[in-house]
Amino acid sequence: MEGNPRQTIIDIACRLEKAGLNKVAAGNVSIRSGGRFLITPSGMPPGRLRPRDIVEVDFDGYWEGDVAPSSEWRFHRDILALRPEFGAVVHTHAPFCTTLAVLRRDIPAFHYMVAMAGGKDIRCAPYATFGSQELSDHAVAALEGRKACLLANHGMIACGETAEKALSLAIEVESLAEQYWRALQIGEPVILDDAEMDRVIEKFKTYGPANRGR
Ligand code: 13P
Ligand code: ZN
Repeated sequence: MEGNPRQTIIDIACRLEKAGLNKVAAGNVSIRSGGRFLITPSGMPPGRLRPRDIVEVDFDGYWEGDVAPSSEWRFHRDILALRPEFGAVVHTHAPFCTTLAVLRRDIPAFHYMVAMAGGKDIRCAPYATFGSQELSDHAVAALEGRKACLLANHGMIACGETAEKALSLAIEVESLAEQYWRALQIGEPVILDDAEMDRVIEKFKTYGPANRGR
């Protein structure tokens, strides 16, 4: 991501709100920055954020200044520490993801786009109190081999190489959660089998404008 990463975090937080994925001070955003990471402060609505409100935290959880980092700094830290392929983490209380998470339901392969999150399903991590190390441990486990997960009775997490990619995935996962929820209203969705999802996962490796169908 080009430009000032503090401003990028603010832009992503504002876009999450505009897209209806977060409201008021729910959710948080982080970007890897050298041996540390930058993260939204705790309890501040995106529209009020200034670049100096973004908090720099090291991987021991240490920060300086008067503004406290997001209460969820632990799972941002642990995901960035354990998954070097990710440069950014987005957490939201997106309504359809949260609806499924309240029911503690994984999102199965009801649509091939589920593979966008890295695998054959999008797991729902067990419940733990917000901000706790236990929640972080559950999130890290649910994200194994995946780029996104739901958090029981809470919301969702999406990760990406860049903040832009993490935002796009968060929007995609919310859209999938909405489609799955809609389908559940009128029947039992048909789940794609493992062989089909293997084909889709393989195709996604070369999907996109740079690949010209190869
Ligand atoms: P923060 O404002 O501390 O980031 O908390 C919001 C949230 O979503 C907690 O899970
Ligand atoms: Zn939250």
